[in-house]
Amino acid sequence: MDTVNLFVMESLSTSGIHDELPKKLILAKQNLVLGGNMPYSLSELATLSNEKIDALVTQTKPGVYALDKTTSGPFKVSYVGRSDTDLNDRLKKWVGKYSYFKFQYATSPKDAFEKECELWHDFGGSEGRLDNEQHPERPNGSGWKCPKCNIFE
Ligand SMILES: [Zn+2]
Repeated sequence: MDTVNLFVMESLSTSGIHDELPKKLILAKQNLVLGGNMPYSLSELATLSNEKIDALVTQTKPGVYALDKTTSGPFKVSYVGRSDTDLNDRLKKWVGKYSYFKFQYATSPKDAFEKECELWHDFGGSEGRLDNEQHPERPNGSGWKCPKCNIFE
């Protein structure tokens, strides 16, 4: 639970909610928004263009993203991914291939890996509903485990 709450705090501070609000109140609000069961929250959707990526992903940090290839209707997750070092740079490799993106920074490469695993499972990767059919990879020798399945055990 501690990791969950930490991430909730992180996502709030990057989404522009006032930092001086009491933490309990912030957590209560976040639980209302998310139903209390999502360990991450992604940004609002944005058009996948170099300009939008530079405008929104301003920090050179690890992170995760979801891509949507449809051009109308609600955001539909078609692909999920991560960068261990530079989310901005990674996202730009997809410009022209997908239409919209959402993202969230991670606190470390391991955090990015775990968040990507969660996204991949939650949006149906294991049922073939994503363009990335393979389970997210972990760096060689890391020993990291998926928080959602035992593929690495
Ligand atoms: Zn897994």
